[in-house]
Amino acid sequence: MPSIEQKHNLHQHGPMHSVEETKSIILQSVDTLASENKPLIDSLGQVLSKDITSHFDIPPFPNSSVDGYAVIHSDVVSASKNSPIKLKVSHRVYAGETANFELEAGHSARIMTGAPIPKKTSAVIPFELTNENLLNLGQNTRESYTIEIHDSPSINDNIRPQGEDIKKNTKILKRGAILKPADIGLCASIGLDSIDVFQRPKVAILSTGNELLSPGEKFSSGKIFDSNSYSLYSSIIQAGGIPLILGIAKDSIESLKEKIQESFDSDMLVTSAGVSKGDYDIVKDFLSKNGKIKLWSVNMKPGKPLAFGTLKRNDQKPLPHIGLPGNPVSSLVAFHQFVRPAIYKMMGRKTIEIPTIKAILENKIENADGRRVYARVFVSNKNGKLYASLSGSQASNVLSSMSTANGLAICPENIPVKNSGEIVDVQMLGWDELETDESLQDSN
Ligand code: AMP
Ligand code: MG
Repeated sequence: MPSIEQKHNLHQHGPMHSVEETKSIILQSVDTLASENKPLIDSLGQVLSKDITSHFDIPPFPNSSVDGYAVIHSDVVSASKNSPIKLKVSHRVYAGETANFELEAGHSARIMTGAPIPKKTSAVIPFELTNENLLNLGQNTRESYTIEIHDSPSINDNIRPQGEDIKKNTKILKRGAILKPADIGLCASIGLDSIDVFQRPKVAILSTGNELLSPGEKFSSGKIFDSNSYSLYSSIIQAGGIPLILGIAKDSIESLKEKIQESFDSDMLVTSAGVSKGDYDIVKDFLSKNGKIKLWSVNMKPGKPLAFGTLKRNDQKPLPHIGLPGNPVSSLVAFHQFVRPAIYKMMGRKTIEIPTIKAILENKIENADGRRVYARVFVSNKNGKLYASLSGSQASNVLSSMSTANGLAICPENIPVKNSGEIVDVQMLGWDELETDESLQDSN
């Protein structure tokens, strides 16, 4: 027997699903995409589909970490400022050159940072610990001269050993790694210029509604500009997908059909609006007639009207279709809960959760009807403690308070109110403002 609440949750197309159920239904319907070999330079944020093993030692040869003089340690053990040791400088070695000679006792080589170490060298003395600045040396002359060493080094001082960074035949990155700039540099350091990664999903975006104008069009009465295509396009890029804008469909089955056909080469379709209970909310009808509808309503606020299903397409496997709500904040909040994890899974990511922190709430969040509330907040760091304050009106059409937010504070479905001073979980949507908030205010 369903409880009274559950009965109330029975929607015309089935029960209202929890956020977790919804996410799991969506994730079950999307697969990780195939692997591709692509230019390393374009792989930021993509996920490795194969381990990477180095076939080199890095550094590939021992080299100097300073500009200085390569010496034999035993020649200079007694060197000091007051009793310098004189060595004959018979070679110069610059970065990019080879050093196929042996240092002889009593000799030194002038050597630059990154240049290979001559054989028999057991330390490099930096210029500052010699009388080099008094010598007035010509820039590129290779003539011999005498240098005074003012300090006694330890063995191997200022020599970077071969393989210090990476040893030959070791794994440097594992399948599943999400490539960040240092990883890409690491791959380049072993000479790679292409790499095997999971493909980025192509995600088609369609806005629906007779009221919509494209930004750039002339305004006319009764209309509004389509902001969802723009915020979703950007969100898809941020999540790592490749967005494809289909434009605006009218509230008619024919218009939807025409536009949706253009999505059939993509990996997922995201529509906005047309999923609630109004007369023209026909996205759900379209989905049920042309595919399989799997859920219709989610127990969250904002974002309750949300459809998910798979659309039939001719020879290919069914296309996952997430029908986001029309209100600009609802569509973005639902994007983060459901579209982003789906994109992450398709691109091979193992961690798909939004990073969540705990913060001290500075206002009240009310939860009137037992839904999971995602409140727009601005999180700031005050003396090492994180505080979350509501970033403005929480109405689902008010996009400006999403713009001033950097996180979503969660009030769980079974908690009627979160009061000021309580600890809340906050999904962080951006980190950039977190540390700089107060310094920015100071400088204003
Ligand atoms: P609907 O789900 O079609 O009833 O739309 C809910 C609300 O979102 C309405 O006020 C719509 O005008 C608005 N809306 C729908 N699509 C968009 C869009 N692409 N950009 C901005 N607002 C929209
Ligand atoms: Mg509409």
